Amino acid sequence: MTDPSSTTDLYAHLQAIDSVTLDADATFADLTSLHVGGRPRLTVRCATDSAVAEVVMLLDALQMNFLIVGGGSNLIVADGELDLVAVVLENREISLTTEGVLRAGAGAVWDDVVLASVEAGFGGIECLSGIPGSAGATPVQNVGAYGAEISDVLVQVLLLDRTTGEMEWVPASSLELAYRYSNLKFSNRAVVLAIELQLSTDGLSGPLRYGELARRLGATEAGERHPVADVRAAVLELRHGKGMVIDPADHDTWSAGSFFTNPIVPVALADEVQARVREVRGAEDAERMPRFPAGGEHSAKVKLSAAWLIDRAGFGKGFPGEGAPARLSTKHTLALTNRGSATTADVVALAREVRDGVQAAFQVILVPEPVWVGVAID
Ligand SMILES: Cc1cc2nc3c(=O)[nH]c(=O)nc-3n(C[C@H](O)[C@H](O)[C@H](O)COP(=O)(O)OP(=O)(O)OC[C@H]3O[C@@H](n4cnc5c(N)ncnc54)[C@H](O)[C@@H]3O)c2cc1C
Repeated sequence: MTDPSSTTDLYAHLQAIDSVTLDADATFADLTSLHVGGRPRLTVRCATDSAVAEVVMLLDALQMNFLIVGGGSNLIVADGELDLVAVVLENREISLTTEGVLRAGAGAVWDDVVLASVEAGFGGIECLSGIPGSAGATPVQNVGAYGAEISDVLVQVLLLDRTTGEMEWVPASSLELAYRYSNLKFSNRAVVLAIELQLSTDGLSGPLRYGELARRLGATEAGERHPVADVRAAVLELRHGKGMVIDPADHDTWSAGSFFTNPIVPVALADEVQARVREVRGAEDAERMPRFPAGGEHSAKVKLSAAWLIDRAGFGKGFPGEGAPARLSTKHTLALTNRGSATTADVVALAREVRDGVQAAFQVILVPEPVWVGVAID
């Protein structure tokens, strides 16, 4: 192989691969929804599965640092000149069968997938309407919203194994899907090339499990199913109100979505947090503290609301106020946003302040949800 340090050689090799486009100018500010981050050595856009596979295997053979990028909506990348190649997935084909089997290329825009499903009258992913990013990233952190998760309907994923170069459909059960987690997250072992979902075909949504959404739809019983298009419309409306649908004109949406996961803590710690809230803010507020059984492997634990804790720790919507380049969204305390001129360093400093403030107030350590590259919160 040629000299890996030579950009000219790298260009020539990559350019020889079909369905690949090279871009030397893009920065992570262009590639991510937070619009922060420095310049990769090169951005390589891949329009087919085989282009992705060839590019990934070439960069691995050259032992070159690279990062798979979908929509960049769950990524925080360091500022400055970066010694890594951005590999952007643009294999976007979507297919559906009359039996409700939906396949999507990893680079398909996730909300296009949801729209195609809803237009076909298929049910199962309408609650995931409006989540930014790509189809291929949905299993990576088992995306979820409004009581649904991709794991509810994911049957299998087409994986490119980076050690063998093999492409193979593997069952969803092998991915250890859990709350905002799979064994693909924080790992470089494989690239998702496509996903396959099994959806229902009777025109109705999955059972409604999220109170706010159920109320919006006038549901009277738990688990009711409603026409998929109605559920999609209601979810999009709720998400817009919280700045959780990307709108380039609205800086409240220049974010990575929920910045911290909801903490899962022992019952005793949840009780202590509630006692602390009672002491500082009164019994009424303490009684309102959201706490839910964590379920699954955490059945003895309690899930708290990160957004609520952030607010009660003194970080209200819009913190720290006008003029700061990075602020909490004015619509939702859980989104850290770039008001237009923020750098990664600004976002990280705000994340640290919020995390430390919540820890000082409640002894709960918030864990960031996005993937960090070349930068850390500590
Ligand atoms: C406004 C807003 C709202 C959001 N709301 C939600 C929500 O409701 N629920 C939720 O779960 N998330 C939410 N998110 C987070 C984000 O949209 C999801 O995590 C989404 O799935 C990320 O997709 P992406 O293509 O943008 O991934 P990227 O940010 O491009 O990548 C994220 C990570 O996945 C890896 N990756 C991406 N594609 C692949 C692939 N094909 N194979 C292997 N690794 C890959 C990347 O290398 C990186 O490590 C929100 C984000 C924003 C900005």
